[in-house]
Amino acid sequence: MKIIPHKNAAMAGLFLLFALPLIILLYIEFNEINKWIDFTHKERIGVEYNRSLMRLLNNMMHRRGMGYAYLNGDISFSERLAKEQTYIEDDIKAVEALNQKYGSVLMTDEKWKTIKNRWQGLIEKKDLPAAKERFDNHTALIADIITLVSHVGETSNLILDPEITTYYLMDCLTFKLPLLIENLGQTRGIGAAAIKHRLGADEKIRLITLSGQIISSLDSSNERIQKVFSSAPDIKPQMETDVIELNSNIRAFLVMLDREVINSLKARITKKTSDYYGVATKAIDSGYRLYEKEHPILDKLLQARIYEYREERSYYLAILGVVSAVFIYVFIAFNKNITKLEIANDKLEQLAITDPLTGIFNRRRFNEAIEIEIERAGRHKRKFSLIMFDIDHFKETNDTFGHEIGDNVLRTITQVISRQMRLTDTFARWGGDEFIILVIESTVESAKVLAERLREEIGTCYFDIDKKITCSFGVAEFNETDDAEAIIKRVDEALYETKNSGRNKVCIK
Ligand code: GH3
Ligand code: MG
Repeated sequence: MKIIPHKNAAMAGLFLLFALPLIILLYIEFNEINKWIDFTHKERIGVEYNRSLMRLLNNMMHRRGMGYAYLNGDISFSERLAKEQTYIEDDIKAVEALNQKYGSVLMTDEKWKTIKNRWQGLIEKKDLPAAKERFDNHTALIADIITLVSHVGETSNLILDPEITTYYLMDCLTFKLPLLIENLGQTRGIGAAAIKHRLGADEKIRLITLSGQIISSLDSSNERIQKVFSSAPDIKPQMETDVIELNSNIRAFLVMLDREVINSLKARITKKTSDYYGVATKAIDSGYRLYEKEHPILDKLLQARIYEYREERSYYLAILGVVSAVFIYVFIAFNKNITKLEIANDKLEQLAITDPLTGIFNRRRFNEAIEIEIERAGRHKRKFSLIMFDIDHFKETNDTFGHEIGDNVLRTITQVISRQMRLTDTFARWGGDEFIILVIESTVESAKVLAERLREEIGTCYFDIDKKITCSFGVAEFNETDDAEAIIKRVDEALYETKNSGRNKVCIK
C-alpha cells in the first residue's frame, strides 16, 4: 500500500472540487426557498386574520348607522340594533381566537386589546349618549379596526408581496376596500339621521366631503382591480360581475344621496330612512361581496405559490440525492480500483522479495535487512550474527532422486528452519542449496548454539527419501568495522571451512 499513499487526499479533493460547492449551493437555495415558504405562509395568516376583522367592521358599521338613525328619532331600527350586538360579540370571539393563535406573530395584541376595551366602553355606557357622540365613538372604534387591518397587512408581509397580481389584490383588500366601505358606512349613518331632521350645514359639508372620498376610493379600488385583471386575465371572469355591481350600486347610492339628501329642494326630506339606509347598505354589501370574492382568490394564489416553492424544494432535494448517489458511486468505483491496484502492488512487492520455490525471503530482501541491521548496530551498539548453511552433497540427491524430490528437500528444510526462527530474525534463501539467517542481538557463541540446534533438527528430519540429509553451517559475528560484504564473506568462509572439515558441522569465524 505504498505506491498510492494519497487515496484519502484524492477523495477529499474530489469531494471539495465537485460535491461540496454543489451541496453548499443547494443548501443556500434550500434555505432561500424555506424562507419564502415561511414568508408566504405568514401572508396567508394575515389574510385570514383580516377577513375576520372585516366581518367585525361590517357589523360595527351597522351598529353605528342604525344607532345614529335611532337616536335621531327613527325607531324602526330598534329590533335589528339589538341583534347587531350579538353579531358583534360573535365577531369579537372569532378575532379573539385568531389573535390567540397569531397575535405574537402579527404583533396585534396591543391594538386588538385597545379595540376590545373601546367596545367594552361602548356597551357599558348606562345612559344613552347624544347621537353625535355615539356616532363618533363608533367611528373611532371603526378607525381602530381599519388601522389594525393595515397593521396586519404590514406585519404579515402582505405589503411586501413580490408578485403583481397578489400585490394588487392585497392592496385592494387591505387598504382600498376597507376605506371605501367605511366612507360609505359613515355616509349611510349621517345621511340616515339627516333624513329624520332638517339637514344641518355641518352635516351637509360632511356628506359632500364623504361622497368625494367615496368616489376617489372607488376609483383607486377600480384601478387596483384593473391591474389584477391585466396581470391575471383568468381572474377577471370570477370578479367582474361583483365589480360592476359595486360600481353601479355606489353610483345609485351617490345619486340618491345627492338628490334626496344633500340637494333636496324640499324643506324637509321626504325619503324614508329605511329606503335610504337600504340603498346605502346595498352599496356597502356589494363592497363586502367583492371583498369576500377577492379574499379566497388571493388566498388560493398564495397557497399555490407555497406549493410551487415546495415542488422546487423537492426538485433540489432530488438533485442533492442524485449528486450524492453519483458521488458515492464514484467513491466506491475509485476505492475499488485503488484497492485492486493496492493488492496488485502488494503482490508485486511480495514477489520481489520472496523466493518462489520456498516462499521465504530472497537474497535481495536479505541484503536490505542486513543493511538496516548494520545501521542499527552502529547507532545502538548492538550485536548480531549470521548463520549460513548449505546442503551437503545436494547434487547427489538431485541426481539420485530427481530434481523434483530435490525441490521438496529444499522446501522441507525451509519449513523445519522457519519453525525454529524468532520473528525478529531474518531467514532467506541465499541461492541454490544455500541459506542465510540474520540473528539479531546475538553473539557468535549464542548463534553457534542456535546453528547446532538447527543442524540437529535437519539431521533428524525425515525427508521421505532413502537418504540422510545434512547441512554444513558457518557462523560469524558482526564487527564494528564490518560492512555487509565483509561479514557475509566471513560467514561464507566459516561455511567453507565446515565443508572442508567433513561437513554436517558448525564452524565459526
Ligand atoms: P556440497 O555442497 O556438499 O559441497 O555438495 P553439493 O553437491 O551440494 O554441491 P553444491 O552445493 O555446489 O551444489 C548445489 C547443487 O544444488 C547444484 C544444483 O544441482 C542444486 N540446486 C541448486 N538449486 C536447485 C533447485 O532449485 N532445485 C534443485 N532440485 N536443486 C538445486
Ligand atoms: Mg551443497
